[in-house]
Amino acid sequence: MKEAVLRVKLLCFTPEPETAAALGARLCYSDSGIEDLRENVAPKAGVLVDRLMGYGHLSPIEHASFTFGIEGVSRALLAQITRHRIASFSVQSQRYVAKPEGSPVIVPPSIASRGAETVAEYERQMDAINAFYAYWLAQDIPAEDARFLLPNAAETRMILTMNARELLHFFSLRCCERAQWEIRRLAWVMLGLVRREAPALFAGAGTACAHAACTEGRMSCGKAARVRALDAELTALCESRADDDTIRQWVLTNIGGCDNQKE
Ligand SMILES: Cc1cc2nc3c(=O)[nH]c(=O)nc-3n(C[C@H](O)[C@H](O)[C@H](O)COP(=O)(O)OP(=O)(O)OC[C@H]3O[C@@H](n4cnc5c(N)ncnc54)[C@H](O)[C@@H]3O)c2cc1C
Repeated sequence: MKEAVLRVKLLCFTPEPETAAALGARLCYSDSGIEDLRENVAPKAGVLVDRLMGYGHLSPIEHASFTFGIEGVSRALLAQITRHRIASFSVQSQRYVAKPEGSPVIVPPSIASRGAETVAEYERQMDAINAFYAYWLAQDIPAEDARFLLPNAAETRMILTMNARELLHFFSLRCCERAQWEIRRLAWVMLGLVRREAPALFAGAGTACAHAACTEGRMSCGKAARVRALDAELTALCESRADDDTIRQWVLTNIGGCDNQKE
């Protein structure tokens, strides 16, 4: 068994995402032609977007979209992330892509943190599951049926596109300490990547307590101060234009340990 490691790349995004959003907002209230408007808006797009976010006028930010390449995540994560409906997904197929023996799996921090013996037992169990799967493939059972044996820990990869408005919503839910550790890690990496490219759009993004009061009521984790400090660290990384991998490494070190594991 190999351990799969989270990898996330910001593959592409709307050119000048803040200008696209600011143009959308300005057009509603201006009698200028679009070319004139563009010349006016582009130099101060960040300020305009900042104002827009303050008003809560969010439909114009739907003009900016971001596409991520995501690898080293589990099918358990896939089940959660695809609940977000205002998004586009392309996911590696378990029908057309058979998993060769020894394919990587995701190891939860609660197991990894218990040491080598616990991880070895997890490995033995994953290898056994894989052997069942391989058995059916060897019987000429198609991959689409043999996959019924595969665990939630099986690695998958996807291309994901969300617009800025949906990203704000996604971050508000999934950067929260109450979100499950794997999707929380992914959300923080994605937040870092887009905040680096479009700071005005994503300065205030993240879970509620990073910038204002917690919205979880009785279920609050009570860690707002820590979340705020982490958010500030991430902002500093974004301002230094850290590359995708540096942001990912920072998240793997700081987010999603085994201190909080229930949804
Ligand atoms: C901590 C946590 C625990 C969870 N636990 C569970 C669980 O135990 N079981 C479970 O089934 N799910 C669970 N979920 C998933 C959750 O119920 C949502 O399905 C998921 O978070 C997607 O969020 P959403 O529906 O707000 O947003 P999205 O699908 O991302 O949509 C964004 C927004 O668009 C609007 N929207 C989208 N579609 C519609 C529509 N059809 N009608 C009206 N408005 C719409 C809504 O305002 C919505 O908030 C959990 C999520 C979290 C964060």
